[in-house]
Amino acid sequence: MFGIQELLLNVLALIVFILFIPLIIVLKCNNDSHINLLKFISFSLAIISCISFPFTLTNGFIFDLRLIALVIGFLYGGVKNGLLLIGVTVLYRLCFGGIGIIGTIITVVATLILTFPFIKKFNNFTKRKRMLTASLVALLNSSISVIIALAIFSVDFEPLLIFYYLVITAISCPCIVYIYETFHESIYIRQKIIKTEKMEMVSHLASSISHEVRNPLAVVKGFLQLMEDVDLEEKKRKNFLQISINEINRADTIIRNYLTFAKPSPENIEILDIRDELGKTIDMITPLANMNSIIIDTAIKPFFIKGESQLLQQCLLNICKNCIEAMPNNGTLTIETASENNNLHLTIADTGTGMTKEQLARIGEPYFTTKGREGTGLGMMAAMQIISSLQGKIHISSTLNKGTKFLIILPLLNK
Ligand code: ADP
Ligand code: MG
Repeated sequence: MFGIQELLLNVLALIVFILFIPLIIVLKCNNDSHINLLKFISFSLAIISCISFPFTLTNGFIFDLRLIALVIGFLYGGVKNGLLLIGVTVLYRLCFGGIGIIGTIITVVATLILTFPFIKKFNNFTKRKRMLTASLVALLNSSISVIIALAIFSVDFEPLLIFYYLVITAISCPCIVYIYETFHESIYIRQKIIKTEKMEMVSHLASSISHEVRNPLAVVKGFLQLMEDVDLEEKKRKNFLQISINEINRADTIIRNYLTFAKPSPENIEILDIRDELGKTIDMITPLANMNSIIIDTAIKPFFIKGESQLLQQCLLNICKNCIEAMPNNGTLTIETASENNNLHLTIADTGTGMTKEQLARIGEPYFTTKGREGTGLGMMAAMQIISSLQGKIHISSTLNKGTKFLIILPLLNK
């Protein structure tokens, strides 16, 4: 029947632009001002689509479901958003001409007046009250537009079409609000779960870290007390000192890796030349490598990436140290750089003990270590966290008794 197809097309436009596209925006985008802008564009498209597919009565009067989009945009998006949507409505309606434009202006003013008392309190309402408010306002608003058309502009009264218009508004508005609410509720719950999981992890880490740091401190304290003895042999004193320094280093590493987890994003972003950065790392690990008779084999070209030197150093050191520790009696540590698809491919590989499938699956899990008292199980967790904070990826492959390869992919800087 004439008119009803248009109204159903309007419902489809509302479903797409008010429900699905905003949902995708909220899921994919994490910048609040971008979300608001994109949502505004989507709501505008809902209004434009509705006005584009109306059913027309005499005297150039068109009816459509734009008011639902307008009311929802006003109530959920606030005054500024609502006023901008009114601007879009009036401007687009102007393109169609006809006396109905005056009706449009009166109706949008009515929208403003009807929604205004609720805007501030709307977000504190219960879900049911929000559904009820939005639906009543939309229905009242639509009724006003019908009355204006009939009473002021003496548009021919087509009872069946008007009836459909009001019934479809009355049914579709609460349904749309209900689905909108449900979508947003589940997004909220999802975000909350992620946050809670993270908090739980942090508090778990915090409690065990204080425990782990206390151990090396107790050892240092013990040795310092022993060194108080003035008759202590020089050789023993040196030995105690060395042990104390090692334990302090251990405590330092634990705290440093833990801090990366709690605050992993780089703060002082700068342009880094990976060749310089790897140079610094190699300088630091060379003594350790020499101790295990390890050859460091490099093929490093200069590539530029964005990041924070200190964080990147921590990541590279953690990975290289693991490689060296996997080769207790000689081996080769290979470090190579290449570029592919605008990404830096940094390979760090060892010819060490390798890992079993189970170990490989658990690498990066907090406290997963196969090194007993010597390990902390925090190094790879921190390294992976740093790589993801630099918008990078890491692929690890390993063969038992053959070696392990870390492929780190980081976005190259476009010069
Ligand atoms: P830690 O080095 O303190 O044990 P990490 O988080 O740095 O903690 O590493 C976790 C575990 O992953 C190590 O204990 C080891 O079993 C495994 N691992 C990491 N890197 C390598 C590697 N290059 N070769 C073999 N095993 C590795
Ligand atoms: Mg380690």
